[in-house]
Amino acid sequence: MKARHTRIYGLILLNFWLGIRSYGQNTKPDFGSPVNIPILLAGNFCEIRPNHFHSGIDIRTNGKEGLPIFSIGNGYVSRIKVSPTGFGRVIYINHPEGYTSVYAHLSSFNSPIDAYVDSIQKSTESYDMEVFPDAKQFPVTKGDTIAFSGNSGSSASPHLHFEIRDLKSEEPLNPLAFLNYVDNKPPTIKNIRIVYKNDKNIYKVLSDLYFSDDYDDLSVIQGVDYGEYFFELMGTDNSEDALMNFYSITVYTNSGDTLFFNQFDRFNFDETRMVNSFINYSTLVNDKEEWLRLYKLPGNSSSIFKNCISKPLIVSEETDTIFFKVTDYNANSTTVKVFVHGTEINKTEEKTDDLVCRFYNESFSFPFKYGFVNIPANGIDNSFCYSLTDYDTIPDTTTFLIGDPSVPLLKNAVVVIQKKLNNNFWLCERNNKNELTGTSYKLDSAKYGYQTIIKKMGWYSLEQDSVAPQLIKILSEYDPIIPKQKNTLLKISDDISGVKKANVFINNKFVPCEFDLKNSIVIIKGICFNKTDNIDLLLIDYQGNSNKLAHIKIN
Ligand SMILES: [Zn+2]
Repeated sequence: MKARHTRIYGLILLNFWLGIRSYGQNTKPDFGSPVNIPILLAGNFCEIRPNHFHSGIDIRTNGKEGLPIFSIGNGYVSRIKVSPTGFGRVIYINHPEGYTSVYAHLSSFNSPIDAYVDSIQKSTESYDMEVFPDAKQFPVTKGDTIAFSGNSGSSASPHLHFEIRDLKSEEPLNPLAFLNYVDNKPPTIKNIRIVYKNDKNIYKVLSDLYFSDDYDDLSVIQGVDYGEYFFELMGTDNSEDALMNFYSITVYTNSGDTLFFNQFDRFNFDETRMVNSFINYSTLVNDKEEWLRLYKLPGNSSSIFKNCISKPLIVSEETDTIFFKVTDYNANSTTVKVFVHGTEINKTEEKTDDLVCRFYNESFSFPFKYGFVNIPANGIDNSFCYSLTDYDTIPDTTTFLIGDPSVPLLKNAVVVIQKKLNNNFWLCERNNKNELTGTSYKLDSAKYGYQTIIKKMGWYSLEQDSVAPQLIKILSEYDPIIPKQKNTLLKISDDISGVKKANVFINNKFVPCEFDLKNSIVIIKGICFNKTDNIDLLLIDYQGNSNKLAHIKIN
């Protein structure tokens, strides 16, 4: 998801436009609903997603596409984007009150905007497009139909992804602050566990507790040695069976001491990868469990945690009573109580002497099988230990390990490969089953060989991309919105670098057909062609390998 853009050319007009209305972001605007059905959520603000915080809310559209989407207020269309990934078809509206509203995964725009998008796609012969119209081009009034809901981009099922951003900083805000949303269900706490910090600053789990639905159990954590401890929690906010993030979390003691507090109101897109520092990333990678850290790691500098309170529990011979309170945006809350009994124990020290350990605030390099990796300062959130001599590989394969898959990268790392390669090699990410994940990095020539940036540590292989994308099969399917209209689906694939362009030409003219990368299909709408038309397909991958398929036979 690319969401932040600097726009210089729109600023002068925008200032003029804001100037003539001359009011700021102080009064809460009277925004309407983007849909004409009751708002039910499938996802909420700051929900934990792979490598990012969810920047808006996901509004259910009854499992259907094609619902009218309304502008929540007066303003103008400030940005329109079409992409086979991310938000798919998305529209941004700037409001004079100092906000931008965002409507994503759309199936289509209203007719004037659709015609405008179509003309741009045709003139550039590209499905991907992005424009920043000025205030005069598409002005809107509150309640205007601006688009129709859909399932475009990386959306897994039909819904409206909706955001409200601060117009100036472009920071996403909690949209529930602006909408009428009814929710009477309190959030749920499923598990709590107690953790300690070892001599290498690594947090280790001591024991955990499970809570049944009624929270009646007297929950006691026994056998805790004297010292400093922290907590982690698993749970969700509940609404219409979706699993979502809490609005606030508080941990406090019976003496009124707050050990942890955080509230999720806004964040900056530059910090969204810090989500991997809020969750216990190593548990997520190794056990597929999503534990929230109720303590702030030293390298977590995200503004979401700007007002965060984070203190250890000091365990002594006295029994401490700890309360864990979670709330949702509608102030429904759940609190559980846990007793911690301290006991003096002789700890056995862990052996970590053969490892080199680095702390988050320094930059450092470490080796892997074909070269080395440079981690920038603040590129990790805590401590990272590695061996100088063991280069992990999977036997009988070309797969090798770069770093530690259970340590998140908060900033990109630079990988330098000291090996002679052809210039069509890519560094390809692999999962723990040694399968390609689809994430590949192009290698650039560098002083010592080749280099590229990576977003995560883990298993990789070097692969040559010399094969162009292929047309796998031709299918037909009824249109999700227009009844009885049959569309033609072209299923395509690419081995290494991925499909960059999938262009359809009907009688030698480019037609901007729907390109859905999550399903690897190009959709030729039934209304686009006649049986006698000549249809060609041009496929190009990110390496530049191209495949032109002439006279495709469609039934
Ligand atoms: Zn969403």
